[in-house]
Amino acid sequence: MVTIFSPDHALHDAPHEFLDGKLIVPHEVPIRVQMILDALEGAGIGPIQPPRAFDLNPIRAVHDDDYLAYLALAYERWVAAGGAAAAVLPSTLAVRWMSRRSVGPLVAPGYYSFDLSAPIVAGTYRAARAAADAALTGAALLLEGQQLAYALCRPPGHHAGRDLYGGYCYLNNAAIAAHFLRVGSWELGVSKLGQSPTPNSQPPRRVAVLDIDFHHGNGTQQIFYERDDVLFVSIHADPVREYPYFAGYADECGAGAGAGFNLNFPLEAGVTNARYLAVLDQALAAIADFAPRFLVLSAGFDTFGGDPIGDFALTADAYPLIGGRIAMLGLPTLVVQEGGYALAALGENAVGLLRGLTKN
Ligand SMILES: [Zn+2]
Repeated sequence: MVTIFSPDHALHDAPHEFLDGKLIVPHEVPIRVQMILDALEGAGIGPIQPPRAFDLNPIRAVHDDDYLAYLALAYERWVAAGGAAAAVLPSTLAVRWMSRRSVGPLVAPGYYSFDLSAPIVAGTYRAARAAADAALTGAALLLEGQQLAYALCRPPGHHAGRDLYGGYCYLNNAAIAAHFLRVGSWELGVSKLGQSPTPNSQPPRRVAVLDIDFHHGNGTQQIFYERDDVLFVSIHADPVREYPYFAGYADECGAGAGAGFNLNFPLEAGVTNARYLAVLDQALAAIADFAPRFLVLSAGFDTFGGDPIGDFALTADAYPLIGGRIAMLGLPTLVVQEGGYALAALGENAVGLLRGLTKN
């Protein structure tokens, strides 16, 4: 198993986020990946390698061009227009009947984001690109025959939609990797969403994305919602009580060609290991029925009982078991790091999941 990691993640270090009306120190901090890295090294899980440098094309296949252009220059334009140098954070959000496109330097953050938990600082875009490169490198390794790769991504990605950021996420690393796996070596320059493969392209490679972060992967769901070639399955806290609140319900099943290819398992508070594993078995059965060629695992560890923003009750023992059951699918698997904020336990839980995944 190969871990892909870039030190560029540290370029993204937000000074604050808004949570429940309070300006707080962010939960999503650079030391998160350092804790995991230290645990991997301590456990002798290697090798760890830097990402390859990809151009924008595999990212443009998932995110809109105007959105990417915004992210690339958001901070510089914001500061030049008089925005706070600490970080880009919108004052007004585009919502429902008030969503006209308006993208002045101080306004665009409210057009392209859906909450106040994803500040942009000077290094955010570079860090996000490095995370996407890590996921793409892992995907490339699977295409080259590896059975398991771990993209130690930061910032995380599963809340980022095609043209919306939020929830600590800017580029959807898992979705970018899943689409890359889907098209394989097919010319990415013409692979924008919604277009059919060219006649001489490689045979279809169906891909499943399993999201085991505590929070619903609303961005990944949106990106693949109308597609039948990428199955999205998410096990998460019921959005009635937990973020992202406005998506992630069980009746969101996909639309158009994608009808039936989106599967949500919203769960109650206090979920135990046994309860989680029983639901995981249902999710894995659906993935097995889909018969994908590759699996992308959006791995968050905020399902841990001690997580400061989660309310499940999983113990460290759960993660090797979760990994072991996923491994029984027998699929080449790319693990993409998402959330997890119980800093002291993060490394052990990540090592546990990876150990479980390598057992079979
Ligand atoms: Zn999460």
